[in-house]
Amino acid sequence: MALPTETVYGLAADATNGNAVAKIFEAKGRPRFNPLIVHVADIAAARKLGQFTQEAEKLAEEFWPGALTLVLGRQPDTAISDLVTAGLPTVAIRIPGHPVAQALLSACGKPLAAPSANRSGHISPTTANHVEADLSGQIDMILDGGPCEVGIESTVVDASEGQATLLRPGGVSAEAIASVLGRPKLRVVNSHSTESGLPKSPGQLASHYAPNARLRLNVTTPEPGEALLAFGPKVPAYSARMINLSETGDLREAAANLFAALRALDAADCRSIAVLHIPGEGLGEAINDRLLRAAAPRP
Ligand code: AMP
Ligand code: MG
Repeated sequence: MALPTETVYGLAADATNGNAVAKIFEAKGRPRFNPLIVHVADIAAARKLGQFTQEAEKLAEEFWPGALTLVLGRQPDTAISDLVTAGLPTVAIRIPGHPVAQALLSACGKPLAAPSANRSGHISPTTANHVEADLSGQIDMILDGGPCEVGIESTVVDASEGQATLLRPGGVSAEAIASVLGRPKLRVVNSHSTESGLPKSPGQLASHYAPNARLRLNVTTPEPGEALLAFGPKVPAYSARMINLSETGDLREAAANLFAALRALDAADCRSIAVLHIPGEGLGEAINDRLLRAAAPRP
């Protein structure tokens, strides 16, 4: 079943039921080594699944319910299917704030594994229509909770040991997280910074969130025939297909509009989408991360 959350729509299944979880991977065409985030209703349910370090406690207190996922040591006796954690000794947990997600979690009383409700590698859905466009025929129900308020996936933080690190930028800014932890900056761990060269968080595949059109980033002058993804009040004179993520230059608004804008420009059948510069601070980090992946060479 697809359900709305404040980040993006999720494709949810009982995280303790291996068969149900396997169906998520099938419907999405998602590689099995890519673990899923487990959604729970409250902190008591989270404690049953993950081991909270001191920093995890602080982050949960400040940002839950909300767009933050904590990767924690997995409790030894959880009923979570190994498919959910892809055999890792850790588990990724989030308490969503969306009232519909909250209501469903409370009603069913089970942890729900839920990745974004799109075909693997496609753009994440921020409306029920987006889910239908990607997964119609594959799933039996979509709960329509309107457009997602945050519009970009959760921030994933590894708080399983010692000092927490950023695995994926998202709906809560890295600056806000560092500030709660009393640090000037949050250390970033990605596929390039682990000793083995293997991604610490296996979902971090370079090409992701990909539209059919090619993306050109940090463009100042769009080429003839290109669609334009703009940001801010200063937009180059341009007549063809254009969407402005935020005319006032508000990064929150831009994040909320990003995926719907990419889908709309993609549907306009342009071969290439030119993207203006988007600043990297606050939610701009997550926006630029998704744009870089959308622009990366396809596997
Ligand atoms: P998605 O469900 O598509 O939003 O992606 C989930 C993200 O969380 C991916 O980047 C995963 O690699 C990451 N993730 C999920 N579980 C774990 C885990 N146990 N350890 C590290 N990263 C995880
Ligand atoms: Mg996804």
